[in-house]
Amino acid sequence: MIQAQKGTKDILPQDIKTWQIMEEKALDIFNKSNFYEIRTPIFEATELFSRGVGDSTDIVNKEMYTFEKAERSITLRPENTAGVVRAFIENGLFRLTPPIKLWYKGPMFRYERPQAGRQRQFHQIGIEMFGSAEPIADAECINTAVKYLNSLGLNDLNVEINSLGCTNCRETFRNNLRKLILPNLEKFCEDCKLRYEKNPLRILDCKNPSCNELLKEKSIQNLINTDFICEECAEHFAKLKSYLDMLNVNYTVNKQLVRGLDYYNRTVFEIKSNALGSQNAVCGGGRYDGLVEMLGGPATPAIGWAMGMERLFSLIEQSKSQKLDAFVVSDNPAEALKLCEELRCNNISCDFDYASRKFKKQFEKASKIANFAVVLGESELETNTLTVKNLESSEQLNLNKSDAIKLICS
Ligand code: ATP
Ligand code: MG
Repeated sequence: MIQAQKGTKDILPQDIKTWQIMEEKALDIFNKSNFYEIRTPIFEATELFSRGVGDSTDIVNKEMYTFEKAERSITLRPENTAGVVRAFIENGLFRLTPPIKLWYKGPMFRYERPQAGRQRQFHQIGIEMFGSAEPIADAECINTAVKYLNSLGLNDLNVEINSLGCTNCRETFRNNLRKLILPNLEKFCEDCKLRYEKNPLRILDCKNPSCNELLKEKSIQNLINTDFICEECAEHFAKLKSYLDMLNVNYTVNKQLVRGLDYYNRTVFEIKSNALGSQNAVCGGGRYDGLVEMLGGPATPAIGWAMGMERLFSLIEQSKSQKLDAFVVSDNPAEALKLCEELRCNNISCDFDYASRKFKKQFEKASKIANFAVVLGESELETNTLTVKNLESSEQLNLNKSDAIKLICS
């Protein structure tokens, strides 16, 4: 038997209600705050990700699903910021009056070792806000994530924030970090050795416990805890904090937080849940002021985040699939279908038995999936009435059609 690929999962009917709630709440929160949905293709030119995500990242180095077609290198999107930025530039969205606020949801693909909370095809929901470098945009961005999580009943969250500074102030930090790491470089993992060359800050994000241990060295911790960012960046960060205070968003500053992608500057953040175990990050994001220009568009500051929907799913209270309003019990499938169509036109969700099985069987099914059984037997057809049974209270009434509809809708 052919099975689903390792690291992929079917989302089955018993779980779909929870997924739909995650999507409905997102739509509600984003609509209220003037975010427009954008849908971009699932595959893009490989170069978009190697440039846009960065070739010192795990994503580009080892996690991409890349294939050749007609001599082109194509990659299944591992994340969606690069795709949204490409669409933003290609479709001239930068001509709109800023801020331009976009959101997306959909499957992403990364070749990773599957484990709880980590799949090869997984889903993200995210926002990207273009055109404002102001810290108030950072505050709204983070607040939108928190409000969305709150709307799903999640309140036990840790919002961690940090500022990576700008290219100027980061340079000194990078050099100092390199200096302190060099004496022990041999002891770091192979990935970190590569990061040392390409993007040493990312060593702080290594998930390897032995590298983590090496980073605990006092001089390295001292460096991490220094206030290395320049005056403008410090002011930007201070304003962000004051806006978050104003919005009652609880946060902690984690000076070691750098995040996995190459393109971030200034604000980075992560939202963690204590309930998630080792894969505890639900949301990650940050400011990427240089990316639009780097990908060929006009210089445009931007900030965004992405959330892992499988991790969200495992955190929120599971909703049972909703019951139908009615199930038509009948031994005449044609009449039952006709009645169902009429009920559906009156906004009543309903179904019937195609095989006209015994009424007892039909009632059994009805009480599992519906709130009312609507009996359409010979006598009802003769008298042009319906017998409506409330499947919870077992109360039963013989009514004309319009009263039956009223009862079911009430
Ligand atoms: P992690 O450190 O867990 O690998 P990341 O830094 O690679 O995360 P991002 O690229 O920032 O993650 O993606 C944002 C969110 O998407 C993560 O916080 C997580 O919730 C989710 N996510 C990332 N990779 C996976 C995956 N393979 N399976 C399920 N969810 C994922
Ligand atoms: Mg990852």
